[in-house]
Amino acid sequence: MDSVWLEVSLNVKAEELDQVSAQLIANGVPGLVVEEEEEFRAFLEENRQYWDYVDDELLERMKGVSRIKLYVTDDADGKQQLAGYLQGVNLPYTTVPLREYDWAHSWQKYYRPLAVGARLWIVPEWERDTVQLPEGAVRLLMNPGLTFGTGSHASTQLCLEGIQEVLRPGERMLDLGCGSGILAVAALCLGASHATGVDIDPKAVDVAYENAALNGIGRDQCRFLAGNVISDRSLVEELAQEKAGLVLANIVADVIIPLAPVVPRLLAEEGTFLCSGIIDTRADEVAAALKEAGLQVTRRREKNGWVALEAKVG
Ligand code: SAH
Repeated sequence: MDSVWLEVSLNVKAEELDQVSAQLIANGVPGLVVEEEEEFRAFLEENRQYWDYVDDELLERMKGVSRIKLYVTDDADGKQQLAGYLQGVNLPYTTVPLREYDWAHSWQKYYRPLAVGARLWIVPEWERDTVQLPEGAVRLLMNPGLTFGTGSHASTQLCLEGIQEVLRPGERMLDLGCGSGILAVAALCLGASHATGVDIDPKAVDVAYENAALNGIGRDQCRFLAGNVISDRSLVEELAQEKAGLVLANIVADVIIPLAPVVPRLLAEEGTFLCSGIIDTRADEVAAALKEAGLQVTRRREKNGWVALEAKVG
């Protein structure tokens, strides 16, 4: 396959970073990626709920350096452009050709068929014809695209286990913070009559519809919307009209706590609220917010420091 981009990396001492960036911009570079060890660590810390582990090699590479990356096309034009960009910048650099394919698919090698709970198997779309599943297994085909929700995170697994134990066939489900749609589509594969998913990230809507279609689920059975489940009141009003037997929210404590007061209005009679994405140290705080909202915690699940709480009105 043809290489299309050349990624050019310059290692810079932290104190020279501003000056080198300014020079590159003055030379006409349209965009830079700046990687600083400090910034990288802060980013990891802030997004901790999204990582299961961080590659030691990656941490090692980020030690003590700042790195500037820029991109040119991997052809004669690009190389000429690069010479212009680097004028007056006397630093060594390395180049790596990137293929569109690497760009979009590099994560695929980390994503394998995965059994979750008693019956469900998450199968990456590109392995649909090669995987043999045990008898009675429910297959969930997924293509996570660029949204969160591959099923490999402990908090997603707690939800998938919960769905298998709690969902009554034929009932509606609501998936708050749906990401790739994994929980909504799993619920539909496991017998829900209809699922609605909402995510603040508009990319999630298309990806979730695609994942539904991948599993043979049409738009008569599911609906995905972009919106903020805390601040968008009209959205919440609309969801409250639907009433779901199972409401899922795999988000984070800081979203679940302010969400709690509206949850009873989203639930059908005898319905269950399952919230996850909660770091164990904050589970009591979330349980207290649920109680305050008139919800009783009926079960607590835990995996690798993550907690999911099941609650009912009453
Ligand atoms: N349901 C998926 C993804 C969970 S990650 C799974 O279980 O794997 C949490 C998702 O919540 C992210 O996709 C994020 O964009 C979304 N989110 C965070 N805050 C939100 C809010 N206030 N309203 C709607 N979605 C939100």
